[in-house]
Amino acid sequence: MSVQVHEVTVDFGGIVALSKVSLKLERGQILAVIGPNGSGKSTLFNSITGMVTAASGKIIVDDTPVDGMQPHRRIALGLARTFQTPRFDPHITVEEAVLCGFYPVSQSGMLSALLRAPKSARQEQTFSERCAEILQDLRLSEYRHTRMGELPMGQVRLVEVARAVANNPKYILLDEPAAGLARDEQAMLSYEVRRLAEKGVGVLLVEHNFNLIRELAQHVIVLNRGAMLLSGSAEDIARDKSFIDVYLGSSGR
Ligand code: ADP
Ligand code: MG
Repeated sequence: MSVQVHEVTVDFGGIVALSKVSLKLERGQILAVIGPNGSGKSTLFNSITGMVTAASGKIIVDDTPVDGMQPHRRIALGLARTFQTPRFDPHITVEEAVLCGFYPVSQSGMLSALLRAPKSARQEQTFSERCAEILQDLRLSEYRHTRMGELPMGQVRLVEVARAVANNPKYILLDEPAAGLARDEQAMLSYEVRRLAEKGVGVLLVEHNFNLIRELAQHVIVLNRGAMLLSGSAEDIARDKSFIDVYLGSSGR
């Protein structure tokens, strides 16, 4: 059971954002993707979830080729993601934002929801209990009734993670989830990411904080200008001179 990306290339009107990138994400594994700004990390996520069309290459989710498949059908296969810049309606509450995440897995259709069939009411109860658990895990309980527009960006990203977790995915793609979080919040997120993996979720993680990556990821891919520069353990990567030159050199970190 895995997400397989084979030599995927994405170009935007002649600008190659991703060039023959390959990876394999197994369930229960944490795979990190790093690289300077503009190196194609978000584009990689977009190509896996179907938000951009690959010019060539192949993407397979648990034996199902997903090329040309709409994003919502890919989500139904067990993919969930967060966005680097989350877009929520600023008027909805944190709880409402997380509850949105349940709808892709909801068994009862629109009609039964409208008719308020008992099954649907039961399901809603389950959702709201599960939502409370997820909010507690991510230390968001106190913000439950806060409007999204009033949250600091770090917490907005955590709500994104909560919404993605609510979908009960097999694979979760996290795009810089720790950006803007305080150190203790990063430690909490790191713990939750590891817990997800222990439960069998495959985690693809875009992250700039190399200490966090070293702590979490079994495997690391370094992108540079859309191409795979390196692939290996965090220790291998940290020792590689081309990583030090390209990544630390160009991002100033
Ligand atoms: P990263 O996430 O690593 O910072 P991105 O994947 O966002 O990088 O971007 C990779 C390259 O593709 C950049 O040069 C960016 O400007 C370009 N790009 C990304 N999305 C689009 C788009 N929708 N249209 C045109 N160019 C894009
Ligand atoms: Mg990005």
